[in-house]
Amino acid sequence: MSKRLASFICLALFATSACAQQYDVVLEGGRVMDPETGADAVRNLGIRDGKIVRISSEALSGREVIHAAGLIVAPGFIDLHQHGQDLASQRVKALDGVTTALELELGAPDVAQFLKAKEGHSLIHYGSSASHVAARAAVLGAPIPADASPPLPKSGPVTDRPATAEQIRRIQERLGTELDAGGLAIGMGIQYTPGATRLEVIDIFRLAAERRLPVYTHVRSSGRVEPGSSIESISEVIGAAAITGASLHIVHINSSCLRDVLECLSMIEGARARGLDVSTEAYPYTAGMTAINSAIFNPGWQEKQGISYGDLLLPDTGERLTKDRFDVLHNSSTERVVVRFNNTQEAVDQAIAHPLVMIASDGLAGHPRNAGTFARVLAQYVREKGTISLMDALRKMSLMPAQMLERSTPAALQKGRLQEGADADIVIFDAGAISDRSTYEKLMEPSVGVRFLLVGGTILVNEGKIVPDVFPGRALRGPGKR
Ligand SMILES: [Zn+2]
Repeated sequence: MSKRLASFICLALFATSACAQQYDVVLEGGRVMDPETGADAVRNLGIRDGKIVRISSEALSGREVIHAAGLIVAPGFIDLHQHGQDLASQRVKALDGVTTALELELGAPDVAQFLKAKEGHSLIHYGSSASHVAARAAVLGAPIPADASPPLPKSGPVTDRPATAEQIRRIQERLGTELDAGGLAIGMGIQYTPGATRLEVIDIFRLAAERRLPVYTHVRSSGRVEPGSSIESISEVIGAAAITGASLHIVHINSSCLRDVLECLSMIEGARARGLDVSTEAYPYTAGMTAINSAIFNPGWQEKQGISYGDLLLPDTGERLTKDRFDVLHNSSTERVVVRFNNTQEAVDQAIAHPLVMIASDGLAGHPRNAGTFARVLAQYVREKGTISLMDALRKMSLMPAQMLERSTPAALQKGRLQEGADADIVIFDAGAISDRSTYEKLMEPSVGVRFLLVGGTILVNEGKIVPDVFPGRALRGPGKR
C-alpha cells in the first residue's frame, strides 16, 4: 500500500486503531509554546521524518511516545555564538536545551574542512562563518593553526599591522572561497586584529553586502576611554553597515559595552529606526573569556577595561594572575584561555532583559557559559528575578536567532518555531527545575531540567540523559557559490 493511500485511509478512519503508529514520535500533553504565533496551550505533537507534522488537542499515536505533562515543549535553542564544537561541548549544550550551535563570531579557519569533519559526527546542528581573522592571518603570513580553540591569532605584527590594498584584496578573495564552501556569514573579531584599518573593515563589509550575507562582529574595543571606547566601536560597525548595506550582528553586547550597554543598545535601536539591519546578543555572566596571547591584551588593556592582573583567572588551574605571570602567558605562542572579571551584574541584567537582545553563549571549555547559558537565563531571569517572561526568553533563544539566520539560509525558516511544518528541533524542560550547574570551578557541569531534546526528530536527550551513539546534527550552510 502506498504511503499516500495509507494516509488517505487514516484520514477516512480518523483516530481509529487502523491509524496507530502513524507518527515516529509523539509528545503527549506538554505545554506547547511557540514564540512566533504566541501559541501557549497543552497539546500533543506528532513528528514524522524529522518534521513537526501535527499539533493537536486530540490523542495521537506514535512508535515512541514521550509523556510531557507538566513540561514546557519549545523550539530547540539556537546558539549563534559557540566556539567549542567538540563532542564534550555538544553534550553540555544539548543538556542546556541547544539544538543548533554555530561558530559565527570568529568562524572556522577552513569552512570546508570544518563541515566535512563534523558530518555524521555531530550531536546538534552546526555551521560556521567565513573567518576574517583567519583569512587575514594567512595573507599576512602567520596562518592560525587548525586546532586553535578559539581560532585566534597570537598578538604580533600580523595582528597589529595594517594590510596593504593588495593584501585586503587577497583577504577578500580567501573569504570568498570560504563563503563558496558554505560559510553562513563573515565573522570579524576586529579587536583581535587591531591593525585592520577602518577602510579594511568597510571593504570586508562590502564583500558581505555583495554576497548578501551578514557580518557577525566582535567590535574593535571596549570601555570608556577615548579614542577606543565601546561607543566608538559600535559606531564604526553601524557606519560600515550603513555605508555598504550589509546586515550586521554585534556579538556579546554585554562584554563589548560593559557599563555602557544601554547606550550601545540605544545606538542599535537608532540604527534600526533608520532602516539598518542590526541585531545583537548577550550571555548571562559578569566575566568574559579569551585567549591571553591575543591582541585584546595589547598594552593599554588595563586602562581601557578598568581591570588589572588580579581580575584574570586561569580556569584550568584556578590561578589568579600577577604581572610576571601575565607577561609570560601573553608573550607565549601557546594559546591559553583566561577568564576576565570585567563587567557588573547590573550591566548584564540590563542586557539580558532588553527586548532587542538574543541569548548566545560565546561557549568554549574554560567558562561556565559553555554549559549553563540557556538554563541560567530561564532560572535567574524568568523564575527568580522575573525580569523576562517565559515566552520572551524562548523568543530570545529560538525565534530571534532563527530570524537572524534567515539572512544566511532559508533552512532557518523551519527553525526556532514550534509549528506544523517546522523542523522537529525541540526542547522539553521542567520550568520549575531548570537551572545551570556550571561554575568557574566546575566548568562543564551540565544544566538540569532539560528532560528531553529532539534534534531533527531524533531523541538526543531522554529522561535527562544523552542517548549514546546517535548523531542527528546536520550542517547549516550558506548559499555557497553564486
Ligand atoms: Zn568575542
